[in-house]
Amino acid sequence: MENCVFCKIINGEIPSEKIYEDDDFIVIKDIRPVAPVHLLAIYKPHVATINDLSIEDSQRMWRLFEVVKKVSKENGIESYRIVQNNGKDSGQEVHHIHFHIIGGRKLGPLG
Ligand code: 5GP
Ligand code: ZN
Repeated sequence: MENCVFCKIINGEIPSEKIYEDDDFIVIKDIRPVAPVHLLAIYKPHVATINDLSIEDSQRMWRLFEVVKKVSKENGIESYRIVQNNGKDSGQEVHHIHFHIIGGRKLGPLG
């Protein structure tokens, strides 16, 4: 989708530190990390939020857990948090589904 930062990263128009890619996901380093390891697993099709997922998309997205397992291990984090924001009040900045994988230090409470 035009003017979507993550679509541009996926198609190579904007550079990123890519650490993994397959047919469904790309995993990059977050440009503003909040912890020593802060990765973004981005679902390739442009879907804004979980509320916008089709059945086919949500079925395809189950593979996310395999991707998370692989990249967390490869980046040396055994304990980590996954954060996924949907919509304005959650603080979602980029309206293209993505999962933050955050670790490498003791994390504070949620909220
Ligand atoms: P959200 O608030 O939408 O859940 O998270 C968006 C994340 O994308 C933020 O943590 C922000 O730092 C990251 N981000 C925004 N633009 C870019 C970019 O151009 N490159 C990378 N690598 N991360 C970005
Ligand atoms: Zn997009």
